[in-house]
Amino acid sequence: MKPCEQVLLYAQGELNPAEKTAFEGHLKTCAACQAELKFLAKLDEGLTPPAAPQRVIDKLLARTTRKKPFWARFKWELAGLTAAACAAFVWTFLPSQEPFNAHELVAYMNASSDDEYSSFAQELNDMEDYF
Ligand SMILES: [Zn+2]
Repeated sequence: MKPCEQVLLYAQGELNPAEKTAFEGHLKTCAACQAELKFLAKLDEGLTPPAAPQRVIDKLLARTTRKKPFWARFKWELAGLTAAACAAFVWTFLPSQEPFNAHELVAYMNASSDDEYSSFAQELNDMEDYF
């Protein structure tokens, strides 16, 4: 294998120590391999997303760990209040709604079963007439 054909293997760290030393010797004198290696390194950079600059990371951390808003101190009180409000809501609206819904449901069921029954009865009559 010609030294120049080993540039990819070298870049990927797949040469054994002896080959690596030999190639590094070649690399010093071969502009083509130097350029190729530079290109491969650039390609690698393009594939791995660059880490955010430390300045940006610091800013983000400062934002997420900055002083809590005032209501955060009353988190549990708020949670309790919310639960109470939900309970009150359910207590106020469910009892009045459920009987109504049940009535409507029963009425609907009655109406449709009546319809079904009468159509069934009608079919029976038709059959009796037929025979
Ligand atoms: Zn070369």
